[in-house]
Amino acid sequence: MFLLFSSGYDPSQVISQLKKSGVEVQKEENGLRLTGATYRIDSAWLKEQPGVQAVIRLTDPAPLASRQGKGDSIVQVGDARFGGGNFSVIAGPCAVESKEVIAACAATVKENGAQILRGGAFKPRTSPYQYQGLGREGLNLLKEAGEQYDLPVVTELMCAEDCETLSPQVDLVQIGARNMQNYPLLRAAGKLKQPVLLKRGFCSSEDEWLLSAEYILDAGNPNVILCERGIRTFESAQRFTLDLGAVAAMKRRTHLPVIVDPSHAAGCAALVPPLALAAVCAGADGLMLEIHPDPAHALCDGIQALSCKQFGDLMTEITALRRHLSGRE
Ligand code: PEP
Ligand code: MN
Repeated sequence: MFLLFSSGYDPSQVISQLKKSGVEVQKEENGLRLTGATYRIDSAWLKEQPGVQAVIRLTDPAPLASRQGKGDSIVQVGDARFGGGNFSVIAGPCAVESKEVIAACAATVKENGAQILRGGAFKPRTSPYQYQGLGREGLNLLKEAGEQYDLPVVTELMCAEDCETLSPQVDLVQIGARNMQNYPLLRAAGKLKQPVLLKRGFCSSEDEWLLSAEYILDAGNPNVILCERGIRTFESAQRFTLDLGAVAAMKRRTHLPVIVDPSHAAGCAALVPPLALAAVCAGADGLMLEIHPDPAHALCDGIQALSCKQFGDLMTEITALRRHLSGRE
């Protein structure tokens, strides 16, 4: 971090404050160079100190999540791997609606070579009158389907109190977009033994997303996968705007795997395949896709769900594209 001072100002007061925060301070011609634990410094506070003209961050405010010389981290969920050249696909219904629906999805996931089964048991819905999920029963059905088809499973954790119920039932714990900045929940997820899938909040910047991952890492869980799922922009023609620029950027900023959920971004099944393929090209380490055996009658997010046939076709295209990109064809 570099602090630019106006000429004639005596920085001694700022220096003594900074030293109390535990950073090292070195005087240079136009200002001060700060090294050490600069992520502990509040740049907004620093900007307001007398004589400070500008504060320039030279290192990331998220030291654990930041790439800073580290190689790609590989996160393993069952036999599925994300990062370091490994690519896995998570698919399943928006919500675990019934034994039949989750079993049909699990069969399709397995048949088409995807690695992880998804399904929401506790659903974060915008309206309290919309379908809220099956709760504990949904968790049991998800686990059962995973066991039956030998697939690891992922579901969303909505509040810290559910950790005990949810943790023994799943292989990967999802933190949804709406909870990306729920700090007590992030800390609770950081105490779990399962890897965590951290979705990007739809109004969150890359910095905020990275700092949310930092909460989980700082609480002791090293296995975090980031998931871009679309952000709010002026464009309202689609449900959200899939920010693939952020995927390419985050791959450079962090050692953590970054995957893409095109389903929630698109909000419409027809747009999912092209966005999924674009995500592969942008360097994503995996995909999360919503599928349903009968999308027209899904209880939640049916418009964006791929049918089993559409999912199978997309998996074939993904495999061909990845082969092409790796120069194996
Ligand atoms: C989901 O994946 O079930 C979900 C609710 O997604 P998001 O948190 O990205 O809206
Ligand atoms: Mn959904």
